[in-house]
This record gives sequence, C-alpha cells and structure tokens, in this order.
Amino acid sequence: MAEFDFDLITIGAGSGGVAGSRRAASYGTKVAIFEHSRVGGTCVIRGCVPKKLLMYGGQFRDAFEDALGYGWDQRGLPDFDWTRLRDNKDREIDRLNRVYLDMLAKSGVTLFPVKARLRDAHTVETSDGRSFTAQTILIATGSSPSLIPILGIEHAITSDDALVLPKLPKSLIIWGGGYIAVEFASIFNALGVKITILIRAGQILNGFDDDLRNALADEMRKRGISILTGVKPQTIEKTYDQYRVIDQNGEAYQADRIMAATGRHPNCADLDLNAVGITTDTKGAIPVDRWSRTVVPNIYAVGDVVGRAALTPVAIAEARAIAETLYNNNPTEVSYDNIPTAVFTAPPLGTVGLTEAQARVQAQTKDDAVDVYRANFRGMKHSLSGRDERTLVKLVVERASDRVLGAHMMGADAPEIMQGLAVALNCGATKRQFDRTIGLHPSAAEEFVTLRDKAPDPLACTRG
Ligand code: FAD
Repeated sequence: MAEFDFDLITIGAGSGGVAGSRRAASYGTKVAIFEHSRVGGTCVIRGCVPKKLLMYGGQFRDAFEDALGYGWDQRGLPDFDWTRLRDNKDREIDRLNRVYLDMLAKSGVTLFPVKARLRDAHTVETSDGRSFTAQTILIATGSSPSLIPILGIEHAITSDDALVLPKLPKSLIIWGGGYIAVEFASIFNALGVKITILIRAGQILNGFDDDLRNALADEMRKRGISILTGVKPQTIEKTYDQYRVIDQNGEAYQADRIMAATGRHPNCADLDLNAVGITTDTKGAIPVDRWSRTVVPNIYAVGDVVGRAALTPVAIAEARAIAETLYNNNPTEVSYDNIPTAVFTAPPLGTVGLTEAQARVQAQTKDDAVDVYRANFRGMKHSLSGRDERTLVKLVVERASDRVLGAHMMGADAPEIMQGLAVALNCGATKRQFDRTIGLHPSAAEEFVTLRDKAPDPLACTRG
C-alpha cells in the first residue's frame, strides 16, 4: 500500500496551481488539487482576463472618435450597454472556467472543490472535515485585495466587485495609484464614468520609470481623469445616494462609488502555516528558496502567495519549474531577469528591465555609467484622427558595456512590442545591436532601433 494518498497535493487552482499540477501529472505523478472557489484563480476569474475584455470594450470609444478624420461620419457616440458587455465577459469567463476544469480532468489531476489547510508536513485537512496525505505539498493560494481599515471602509468596492457591477456608476473615486487602479480608471473613463484617482504619493505607478509615470498621468488627465496627489483618506461616508471620502485635511470627495485599489495581500490566513512551522515575512508572504521550497523541505510555494513578482506568467513558471525539478529529473530555476510587464491603460504601457532611476542607482559606483535615449512623438494614426496623444519610447543603456538595461514605452501596442524586446534584453542586446537592426516601417516600434540622441545627463552639471 502506498505510504501517501497522493504524490503531490496542490492547494489553490489558479495560474500556478493548475500549471504545476498538470505538468506534474504529465510525468505520471499522482496529483490532487484543492480549490474552494472557481478553478482558474485570480487571473482568469477576476484579474487579467476579465479586465482585458472590459478594456477592449472601452477601446471602441477611441475608435468611434478617431473614425471621423478617416472619413467615417457619425452623429455622436453610439449608445453603450454595460450589462451586455459585463454579461458577455462573464460568459467568456464561464467558458474558460470549463476549459480549465476539462484540462485538469484530462490530465488526470483529482480536483477537490473545498478549502484546504495544513495539518502537518504531509497532511492537509479540508473544510468538509476530511484529510489527505502527500509526499509533497504545493501552496499556490494567490492573493486578495487589501483594504485599509479606515472608518467606513465597508462602503468601498474592490477590483473583484468592479468587474461585476450591477450598474455603471456616473462617477467613481479610485483610491490607489498602482496598475490595477489606473487600469480600472482607464476602463471606466472610456465607458463614460467620471473618474477621480486619490493617491497619497506625488505620482501614479510607483516603481515604474518616471518618464512613463509622468507621460501616462498627462494622457489620463487629457482624457478627463482627475488625479489628486497627497491625499490620505480617513473616512468613507454614505450620503443619501452617494459616497463621500474625507481626507487628512477634512477635504471631501464625492462619487456614486468608491473603489479601493490599495494593494493585495498573500492568502495565508486560512492555511494554518503554524502547524508546520512556516512563518510569513513582513509582507505576509511565504519565504522560499530559489527552488520555491519553504523551510519545510517537502512543502513548496509559488505565485502571489510568495510575491516575488505577482504576475501570472511568473506563477506558472515557478510551478512548472517545481514539476520539472521533482518529477522530470530536470532541475529548473526561474529567472527573474527582464520580466516584461504591461499596464493596460489608454494609452497602454509596456516595460522591461531597469527603470532609469534603478539603473542610475545600480551604476552609482561607476560614475555617470548610464545613457538614456528617448523619443516623444505623436503617432501617425493621430495625424488624421486629430487626437492629442503622445507616444513615448525610451531605452536605458549601460555606457561601459553598451548593454540595454531597460526598455519602456507608452503608446498603442506597447504590451505587444515589449514581449519581443524582453527576448532581446535577455540575450544581452547592446544599443549598437538595436541600431544595426533595420526598422519595421511605418510603426512606432521602429523608434526603438532609430534612437540616436542621448538625453542630457542629469549628473553632468554636478560632476563639473
Ligand atoms: P491565483 O491565480 O490567485 O490562484 C489562487 C487560488 O487559490 C484561488 O483560486 C483561490 O481561490 C485558491 N485558494 C486560496 N486559498 C485556498 C485554500 N485554503 N484552499 C483551497 N483553495 C484556496 N497578472 C498578469 O500577469 N497580467 C495582468 O494583466 C494581470 N492583471 C491583473 C488584474 C487584476 C485586477 C488582478 C487582481 C490581478 C492581475 N494580475 C495580472 C495578477 C495575476 O492575476 C496573479 O499574479 C496570478 O493570478 C497569481 O497566480 P497564483 O497561482 O499565485 O494565484
């Protein structure tokens, strides 16, 4: 009789859990997966996929507006039906959920639709009172929206709620300036909602390249989005038919809805990590080594619950690496270099590698070792559409080696363009190699291979 019920138990059937379980099963491993919500996890059910479908919905506004200069006549904007977009989006999510269930079944993974927690290093207990054992346990429980506990916070919705709103509000306050906040701001702005973003910091998108942050804030303001900085909400009140946010100075901001997009926290609370001696770090995440192994040698953790980079492709890569290492005799470590990311705003951002500020910090011992190349222009499409929108492309280059350390773009198709540039950066591409590459004309992407003029060096005057 086998010593354990399963070779591998995975807790959480989201991006990482499903990918790792299927890969393990493909090598003949006996796998069980536990999921208390819908299979597919954050990305499929309440993240990347639904928000991008809504983003596509919003993009039609630009298309209708821009069509005039291209000879298409229309009288005003056509009517928009939120319920139809939301329901069509939900149908697609249902379809993807079925695809995921089907994939798990076909790969021979046993699904238990229950919550699981750890009892000991080899045993999980389920919310319906059963327990199962495994040689190896993989924690892939993801993350959830964090709410800052101010008075009246129960009146705020999160990104989970915003995706399924029963009715489109006329006005929406978004508290937070991260990528989820600005993406939802762009979506709802395009759908005709008056948007106010409240941020404590001086600019949106902390951690992104400053030129991108400033350029996107300019474009968002041109589209009528208010971005109010230095605001720390203290209270949320419900008025007769609206909500009011009151900040640290007693200033009040009123809207039909308030959305809190103030970060996410790893889903650890229900796991009973104490039972196996795992202690979370200061961010509430599970510490792991480069093989995604926790302090308990047979318990692994991947994805948002670890929080190395809270992105779907990272969770998938981490989980598959474990399956390769344990079940295919193919020790695999995940490389965290040059992970491309996008922000699906209007216009979108794409970015890979170091920001200018990070590159300068990294180079500070080498004295003036970073060159920056930048182009800021109006894309060809808008010569006829008349839209006042800028495109920004930027390369950050290490002077001594000529290596491109970072590529950043704001403009149409920036996310699509950035995937290819991430390959180039991972191959160690130099600025000279970018320059030798023939451009694809006419495109905005060709700007990346025609950047000639170095931006003035901000350190030059201090060096004397
Ligand atoms: P998840 O996919 O969240 O899966 C975890 C699963 O575990 C969940 O289904 C949960 O129900 C389950 N679970 C939790 N606890 C238990 C338990 N005790 N027992 C059983 N089951 C449990 N990433 C991108 O790369 N690109 C994007 O454009 C993007 N957009 C996003 C937009 C939004 C609004 C959000 C919220 C996230 C977005 N992300 C995006 C991030 C991405 O969704 C996550 O990084 C990714 O889903 C993490 O995968 P995971 O496997 O770690 O967790």
